[in-house]
Amino acid sequence: RIAAVDGTINAFLHVAEAEALETAAAVDRSRAAGGTEAESLHPLAGVPIAVKDLIVTKGQPTTAGSKMLEGWMSPYDATVVEKIRAARMPILGKTNLDEFAMGSSTEHSAFGPTRNPWDPTRIPGGSGGGSAAAVAAFEAPLALGTDTGGSIRQPGSVTGTVGTKPTYGGVSRYGAIAMASSLDQIGPVARTVEDAALLHELIAGHDNKDSTSLPEAEYPEGRLPAFVDAASAKNVAGLRIGVIKQLQGAGYQAGVLARFQEALERLRENGAEIVEVDCPSFDYALGAYYLIMPSEASSNLARYDGVRYGTRVLPEEGPLTIERVMGATRAAGFGDEVKRRIILGTYALSAGYYDAYYGSAQKIRTLIQRDFDAAFEQADVLVSPTSPTVAFPLASKLDDPVAMYLNDVATIPANLAGIPGISVPGGLSEGLPVGVQFLAPAKQDARVYHAAGALE
Ligand code: GLN
Repeated sequence: RIAAVDGTINAFLHVAEAEALETAAAVDRSRAAGGTEAESLHPLAGVPIAVKDLIVTKGQPTTAGSKMLEGWMSPYDATVVEKIRAARMPILGKTNLDEFAMGSSTEHSAFGPTRNPWDPTRIPGGSGGGSAAAVAAFEAPLALGTDTGGSIRQPGSVTGTVGTKPTYGGVSRYGAIAMASSLDQIGPVARTVEDAALLHELIAGHDNKDSTSLPEAEYPEGRLPAFVDAASAKNVAGLRIGVIKQLQGAGYQAGVLARFQEALERLRENGAEIVEVDCPSFDYALGAYYLIMPSEASSNLARYDGVRYGTRVLPEEGPLTIERVMGATRAAGFGDEVKRRIILGTYALSAGYYDAYYGSAQKIRTLIQRDFDAAFEQADVLVSPTSPTVAFPLASKLDDPVAMYLNDVATIPANLAGIPGISVPGGLSEGLPVGVQFLAPAKQDARVYHAAGALE
């Protein structure tokens, strides 16, 4: 399937055919052996998976969608990759993304854009457009993504797939190339809510290698919750679902709002109680995110110095000082969007501007968390459209960064608050998928599966 369609879709940056077939054959042998060997196979054994190329893999290249890491091979596996290998899932390869996960369309990849399988003249969302498109185009039944401001959920929305951003700390970030460390989370991309839940159960859990990893005892059940059970309940009788007043209306396409209303109707028919919640600080969420995210990224990306990883470019003439090698490497290795964010971030963190920009953004972050706390007093889960628009045409927002950033308006509050969210397909508008997003309090990831499962 990859050979047949990926010439057009460009979801994969690397295909690991031999390795995947080898893993699959080994699983077949274990299954044929029967007895305890067959019985001990994980339910996902032999099910192939694609991995966003921001997550490091031993024996397969990791580029982060950047020339900076072209040709670089990680000497170790990310914790999530260790887990999918232990479950004996064949890794099909690495999927395309906006460079260092900065973007909402996958057009900022240094290796060409990914195309939306529903309409190849349109974007697949971003930054995880490769993972979402691979799943939507039936190139892979499951994929891993990362979500810092919506990069799992927004691509899910515009490709008609399911994507979950777990509670911050719920899945180990060890081996996820850092973008904005206080916001980043790895999560599942799938075709159904139950599939996403099953993969989420596999990759979740505490990890000593990630200092922000959540101890399992801190979940409400005192252990990792059963996400699959929640996803398959299909009954939301009595569940209080809060519609976020600020995440609808102006700026949202009419077709998106129409599908959203129909989804609410279906939930109501299923027994849910629909209420409206007010989150006034959300009006400032985008502004706060686009200060905090670049600030953290500017610090994280300082490691690409032309010495430690990947690309090194020497200045054409003049002395080979550290500054000049670093400058030549970064000038050639980073794309425009990455440079824009490093400049924004270093500016926001600089002495004299710190309080006005970074400090204010952190205060807004607290206000957003308080809005969520208040909203979750009135509702068990919250709901909104995942993205204000369906997939837009390639190149249509590339010259207008702010228009691109506006596509994240509904997804970023969850990252700023560290809470879980899921995007689930909610029908089509003009032949293109519309996504519905559910959000729940931190550590209550089971609730987003419960609500999303009912809509499927
Ligand atoms: N579109 C957002 C951004 O550009 C989200 C990125 C992400 O979640 N990795 O920052």
